[in-house]
Amino acid sequence: MTTKTFSEFLSKLDQTTLRNEITAILSQLFNKARYQEIDKICYLCLGRLAPPHQSIDFNLAEKSMVKILAYTFNRPVEELTEIYKKNGDLGSTAYQLTESRQKGSLSIVELYRKLVIIANQEGSGSQGRKLKLFSELLKQLDPLTNKYLARIPVGKLRLGFSELTILDALSWLKTKNKTLRPDLERAYNVSADIGLVAKTFKKGGLLAIKKIQPQIGIPIRPALAGRLANQEKIIEKLGTFALEPKYDGFRIQIHFSRQLPAEEKSENTLLKPQHSYVRFFSRQMENTTGMFPDLVKEVERFPVESAILDGEAIGFNPRTGKFLPFQETAQRKRKYDVKKTAGKIPLKVFVFDLLYLNGKPILKKSFKKRRLALEKIFQNPTMKSNQLINLTPQRIIKNKSQIEKYFNLYINQGLEGILCKKLNSSYQAGARDFTWVKYKKTMRTNLADTIDCLVLGYYRGRGKRSGFGIGAFLVGVLDPRNESFLTIAKIGTGLSDDQWRQIRRKVDSLKTKEKPKQYSVPKELTPDVWAKPEIVVEIKSDEISKSPIHSSGYALRFPRMERIRQKDPNQSTSLKEVIQLYKIQTCPKN
Ligand code: ATP
Repeated sequence: MTTKTFSEFLSKLDQTTLRNEITAILSQLFNKARYQEIDKICYLCLGRLAPPHQSIDFNLAEKSMVKILAYTFNRPVEELTEIYKKNGDLGSTAYQLTESRQKGSLSIVELYRKLVIIANQEGSGSQGRKLKLFSELLKQLDPLTNKYLARIPVGKLRLGFSELTILDALSWLKTKNKTLRPDLERAYNVSADIGLVAKTFKKGGLLAIKKIQPQIGIPIRPALAGRLANQEKIIEKLGTFALEPKYDGFRIQIHFSRQLPAEEKSENTLLKPQHSYVRFFSRQMENTTGMFPDLVKEVERFPVESAILDGEAIGFNPRTGKFLPFQETAQRKRKYDVKKTAGKIPLKVFVFDLLYLNGKPILKKSFKKRRLALEKIFQNPTMKSNQLINLTPQRIIKNKSQIEKYFNLYINQGLEGILCKKLNSSYQAGARDFTWVKYKKTMRTNLADTIDCLVLGYYRGRGKRSGFGIGAFLVGVLDPRNESFLTIAKIGTGLSDDQWRQIRRKVDSLKTKEKPKQYSVPKELTPDVWAKPEIVVEIKSDEISKSPIHSSGYALRFPRMERIRQKDPNQSTSLKEVIQLYKIQTCPKN
């Protein structure tokens, strides 16, 4: 496929918000692609070069792209900055400046190869080399290709769909309907690389998809927890279940193998064969290994050949042994000053699941069996000296009074609450159902839990806050059926001065003239400044009520912002969860 054909497809995708249309266009695109191209096409459509765990990033800021465009089209940077400010989009700027007679084209594989070379430039002078290489590309390609090309390195492609729509489109490709989605989704859940799934499907069809299994080095999409109204409901739903403390740190998926995975061996021939392989992945499935050198050493002592473990990492005070609040633990998630911060904020990992052991996936086994295998690892004498990696304590619970007892115990230890887990269930990769149920301190108060909303835009300030230029902001929740965002609250109080400034700064850096196509916002709620879908905030409120105004049909009473979350927009709270929370409220409390 040529870049010209590819960009014509991108343009069609860019012009529609209708889910079925997007799915149909994508399936036509996949139909035209060869299997050697389809993985690259998937990544590029999502505005990336690789799945999140491969960390191939351009590290180019918008300012750098302005410089690249200025250099390419031989204009002063100031002039380019002006044009960009006017139309608010680097893509349209590149389109406007590219001569219409410029008609060069590349194969999609060649374009991808060149982009990877650009992204891989490192060290001193790398920004200059990126500028030159990218500019060479822009000088070659047609205006429409350049429009989309200029958006990709700065994370601004945003065609309004995620991996899940790609799965639908793959199903359409073969069946003209979504019937293969469950099989494709299963494959993606256990091997979270959309390019790999698409390539496998294109080459080997459904049979090959059914064979996709978890592998060391590719993250499994983490299982998520549902919410229930009260302790009776938990007992009702789960029967006898396992109760665990809920640590408020960050999710960590540990991949360990004494031998390098086959792919790594061929790529890293310099690595000594006796080196074991350790990788950590976050909730967002990014590779976070470099952030935790202290944990790598401990993992290397695991008495197994290979394993994938699921757990939570939390900071602690080495003097008192007490756990740290989330904000402090979060400081360990950094790329710089890693060693210094590791000394200041040591981490403990609490492992709560085992998904793969000695070369075999064990996700399908019951939690009871997986837990037994996990306990066996921790009983090994080599684990005695393991200071930082611990087994999450667990209790088997049969009645309500036991829930209350342990809930109080963990709350008194400063923890967030408990997780209740079905004993006879397989690991529900990528799913939020009632296999796991979270029950938190906040759920005891009136509203059962905070919700994670996307910031859609802000209203300019009047009165006291006019100095900050922001008076309120609009937030929405996710409707996963069509990957759109529906309004749920206008937030005008409950933020510190710093938080107001922070939200305004963030939105300003993401502002866009047009309403992003995936937002469904009633006219009367139109904000003064629209934000591209990027900022996720945790919102606390007193109650959820039905609303005739908001497009979600629900509103938050007395909403206030707790914090900005490091989440992808498509990990915002879904409308379905809001409805569940609404129903929970009406249930009697314990
Ligand atoms: P989610 O991760 O479900 O989207 P969230 O980020 O808001 O939501 P919570 O709702 O607070 O997190 O709870 C779920 C998270 O709790 C898990 O993703 C995991 O990181 C963490 N966690 C802490 N302790 C445990 C445990 N024992 N078992 C499973 N998860 C745990």
